[in-house]
Amino acid sequence: MIERTFVAIKPDGVQRGLTGEILKRFENAGIKIIGMKMKWIDKEFARKHYTEDIAKRRGEKVRELLLDYITEGPIVVMALEGVHVIEVVRKIVGSTEPKTSAPGTIRGDFTHMSFAHADKEEKSVKNVVHASGDAKDAAYELKLWFTEEELHTYKTVHEVHIV
Ligand code: ADP
Repeated sequence: MIERTFVAIKPDGVQRGLTGEILKRFENAGIKIIGMKMKWIDKEFARKHYTEDIAKRRGEKVRELLLDYITEGPIVVMALEGVHVIEVVRKIVGSTEPKTSAPGTIRGDFTHMSFAHADKEEKSVKNVVHASGDAKDAAYELKLWFTEEELHTYKTVHEVHIV
């Protein structure tokens, strides 16, 4: 049941100075950070992260806008570990569209844009954070972003008190 997942603080999250606040939410839940770094990726790398799958689900236009968005500045990427962490991190992050993300979630607390507004403005929805959607995506994204040497094994106090 101990899983690993991939999270990125998107360019708007970094530029808005939300990195510490976002990290704190995962740390508060007792989730372990096992890898972390800042990267400014180009479109070629971004296409490996946002694959054809996103075009199939959301359309080619959304994928193109998303590639512009994710490459517009540095992002902070992390590997997280914990019990059912893929699902739990998605819960902490909140649903995709800021307009309807629940208060208390990262997206619900720090963003408010709608798909309709983003589409009208021909922009990607800026929702400050990315988190792997399922186990298959988590495995693919962790391998894409981190080498084995960049992921660390250690004990946190949470493993004694919370898990
Ligand atoms: P999530 O990031 O919640 O897993 P998706 O994988 O479906 O959601 O979409 C990836 C990202 O694409 C979203 O986080 C958002 O930034 C952007 N996005 C999705 N749908 C739209 C849309 N209709 N208009 C603009 N941007 C979108």
